[in-house]
Amino acid sequence: MKRKMPLLLCAFLLLIVGCSTKTQGEKEKEVVSKPTEKTVKQEKHKTSKNNKKNTKSKEQPKYKINEANWSIEPIEKDTNEKVVLLTIDDAPDRYAVEMAKTLKDLKVPAIFFVNGHFLETAADEENLKEIYNMGFDIGNHTYSHKSLPDLTKAEQEDEILKVNQKVERTIGYKPSFFRAPFGQNTDVSKHIVKQENMHLMNWTFGYDWEPEYQSKDALLEVTLNNEFLNNGSNILMHDREWTNAALKEIVKGLDKQGYTFVDPKEIKGYSKTN
Ligand SMILES: [Zn+2]
Repeated sequence: MKRKMPLLLCAFLLLIVGCSTKTQGEKEKEVVSKPTEKTVKQEKHKTSKNNKKNTKSKEQPKYKINEANWSIEPIEKDTNEKVVLLTIDDAPDRYAVEMAKTLKDLKVPAIFFVNGHFLETAADEENLKEIYNMGFDIGNHTYSHKSLPDLTKAEQEDEILKVNQKVERTIGYKPSFFRAPFGQNTDVSKHIVKQENMHLMNWTFGYDWEPEYQSKDALLEVTLNNEFLNNGSNILMHDREWTNAALKEIVKGLDKQGYTFVDPKEIKGYSKTN
């Protein structure tokens, strides 16, 4: 019903003054025409090329999270499976905005998993808005990055819900995906995530927190050449100096190996308006 109202309104106005702008007219058309295989592909191309924010209420998901190993898998057989998902955790601390700019220039999507303790000041909130407005998805990584199994039920609720509230107040969007600190979920966190209509997401590999990979060259080398890099890799990176330094070449290297970058908006569970 929500979708039909603007169309009816537009049709009514058309009788009187005509639809005001071309863009609106195109949007209406997208909503009413049944997507064929061709239009779906075109839409995908447009989305990944421009890395624009999804202005439609919801797209059909093309990928799903495999909760057994946290890889990203196509839902339909004919969907490209040679893909990777980029995720940046512990944001927005010092480098996230710059990392977002780098990815935007390269037209590559990603999820920034944020912590509440990086969202306490007005400047922090501006950083979050800037990242979101560049078209990136924002995930919940808890308020203060504590190990959830060490906390009481009430403390875990607080850690998770406070971030959703903060993010929603700041950018008008509640996170779709939740990543527990250290990947340690509990029955409580699983329950809250479900209740909040979010989805669990760990990762398949990442190296930038290990001391031997805390330099641009070492991180680049291991990210592009490791046994876990394959179709559907869910790559964990962080808001860190060396990761920021290596990011552009990591993307170029993955692209050179033939990988396409999954748009989080194409993953089942993403919801713009949940
Ligand atoms: Zn973390």
